[in-house]
Amino acid sequence: MNKNPYITLFEPVKIGPVVTKNRFYQVPHCCGMGHLRPQAHAAMRETKAKGGWGVVSTEESEIHPSSDLSPYAEQRIWDKKDIPALQLMTEAVHSHGALAAIELAHNGNHSANLYSRLPVISPVSQSIDLVYPKQTKRMNKKDIAEFRSWHRKAALNAKAAGFDIIYVYAGHGMTLTQQFMLPEINNRTDEYGGSIENRVRLTRELLEETKDAVGDTCAVAFRFAVDELKGSDGMQFFEEGRAVVEMLAEIPDLWDVNVSDWSNDSLTSRFEINEGYQLPYIEFVKSLTTKPVVGVGRFTSPDLMTSLVKRKVLDLIGAARPSIADPYMPNKIRDQRVDEIRECIGCNVCVSSDNFAVPIRCTQNPTMGEEWRRGWDPELVRPKKTDQSALVVGSGPAGLECAMQLARRGYQVVLSEAKKELGGRVLFESSLKGLSAWKRVVDNRVYEIQQKNNIEVYKESELTLEHINELGINNIFIATGSSWRKDGVGRSQRKAITGLDEVQVLSPVEAIRESNTIQEPVVIYDDDQGYLAGVIADHLSSDGHAITFVTPASVVSPWTVSTLEQTRIQESLLKQKVKIIANKTIALAKGNNLESRCVFTGDKTNIACKTLILVTERSPNDTLYNQLIKQEKGSRHIQLIGDAEAPGLIADAIFSGHLAAENFEASEQEIEKAIFMREMPQLKQN
Ligand code: ADP
Ligand code: SF4
Repeated sequence: MNKNPYITLFEPVKIGPVVTKNRFYQVPHCCGMGHLRPQAHAAMRETKAKGGWGVVSTEESEIHPSSDLSPYAEQRIWDKKDIPALQLMTEAVHSHGALAAIELAHNGNHSANLYSRLPVISPVSQSIDLVYPKQTKRMNKKDIAEFRSWHRKAALNAKAAGFDIIYVYAGHGMTLTQQFMLPEINNRTDEYGGSIENRVRLTRELLEETKDAVGDTCAVAFRFAVDELKGSDGMQFFEEGRAVVEMLAEIPDLWDVNVSDWSNDSLTSRFEINEGYQLPYIEFVKSLTTKPVVGVGRFTSPDLMTSLVKRKVLDLIGAARPSIADPYMPNKIRDQRVDEIRECIGCNVCVSSDNFAVPIRCTQNPTMGEEWRRGWDPELVRPKKTDQSALVVGSGPAGLECAMQLARRGYQVVLSEAKKELGGRVLFESSLKGLSAWKRVVDNRVYEIQQKNNIEVYKESELTLEHINELGINNIFIATGSSWRKDGVGRSQRKAITGLDEVQVLSPVEAIRESNTIQEPVVIYDDDQGYLAGVIADHLSSDGHAITFVTPASVVSPWTVSTLEQTRIQESLLKQKVKIIANKTIALAKGNNLESRCVFTGDKTNIACKTLILVTERSPNDTLYNQLIKQEKGSRHIQLIGDAEAPGLIADAIFSGHLAAENFEASEQEIEKAIFMREMPQLKQN
């Protein structure tokens, strides 16, 4: 084998008293598992260690009940009782030669303490930073001293749990230390307020005390947001951000630097396509410290990673999302299998899982979050049980994933697609403004399918019942997708819109493919309330169409709050002069008007419209499946998957395809065991 051009990435790096075997660093990231699901958590982090990450971190870990993030499932290290659950992770990570890091966190005004019912604390008395009518208690000297002692105790407990790297955390606009630093929040007049030295005092104390408590054997990392991306209204990297790094330069053993808030740090590809997008803000840090520096920015290119290390921009390549999409990325780079990297598409479905307080899901990696419960691993495949062959009809995300996973397991597979190109809905969606990175879902899978000799692909091959019967394959997976309805039935209105023959009605696909037929005034009606209607509006208005956007919701694309995109989407539409009419359903079309109704009062208003683009609901394309089932005598395995079974996210379709392939020929007991593996609460008092 040739010398690996990425050898630099596999050099060990000394971090205080510990040494990481390579430069791949999984920075702390939320996962919806935390203290509620410790076994699932340990297994998920273990997969990263198995995949070659030199350092594997927890998510934010509440150090005290006064930082209670319920109902979110973050990590906890309130006291010694949390140690055994955390040990599951450190032991699992160590067993693959990786270091384990814990991000100690106190969320200050960014927690509601709904479970603990303790007062929320912050540098000043103010409304908490969550939509809940509560205010914080201004911390007095005693509170500050107590907080420091909690942090010290948590560090000692983390050391006892086996962690190698222990964080002090001032980032994401979510932590007490950062709240002390920001003049916008901290207007104290004592030694913890006023000058930047005073505002950084608490962080300095925590860093020094953590080093004193655990620094003999553990490295102390500092996660710091150098810029809030609020311009002169917030901390800027070239002003106070830089001053903080100068002041604390040699105190931590590692600088983990990023931008805040979370939506800026975990920016989606829809709003920033380039990897390394944080570099302009963070690259100054290395020049001010001799300590190693780690940074993130959806890195998936080993060329860029190597160049960043060689150019002394970063010492360690940080990743949250790329390590979720492909826990095996480091090993693939080590083994010169770079083409096999499953690249993060920057969709933030992972983030949305945490925001819905469920275990992490990933569009690209359907095994994410299923490591413990189902025993899934993105690379370790359960071999086939028999020499059966399988037919997969449809090559959208469900069909592609199902065919690929069946072939990985060793089955002989035929994949048939009606269209010229493989990819289904992903081809359409990735052609829309801002979504080009989503094409990786198809590209990565098509690449892998091409490498296999046990999968035959037929394009432009629309299968009918007769074709399928003629083929004589006994295991049939129907992944024929779904179609957008054109009658207006949707989330908030179960009846069709009347009078639709009086306007031109287009589905989302038609609106883009046949955009030259659009007549103004044009209305997009979003009763799906996911992401697509907002994308179509953005796309068409960028192409010069004057759009009116009508939605029964109170904001555009409300689901995208969970992916941290909603405010950016609404900003983009408003800047493009899209007229947004919220809280209205459409019941009737008449002449060149739509009759809208207020969702609260029922009051009617007319909206001028010649072309109506309906983004309301989808109908599953299940005719072929129903025909097959109708004539079936029970000898064949016929299974409906993906959007043809139940329309959802691309992530849902991929999961459905993967699940079908994994469960193919599994016994009922095997399937049942996977579904019902649950982490049960302990019933005795402790
Ligand atoms: P999913 O999200 O469930 O994967 P998609 O809508 O993305 O579904 O993809 C469905 C794919 O199935 C489309 O590419 C479509 O062209 C293809 N398809 C639909 N019916 C047939 C058929 N009878 N034979 C072959 N391909 C089909
Ligand atoms: Fe990347 Fe999307 Fe997976 Fe998150 S869910 S890791 S953003 S591909």
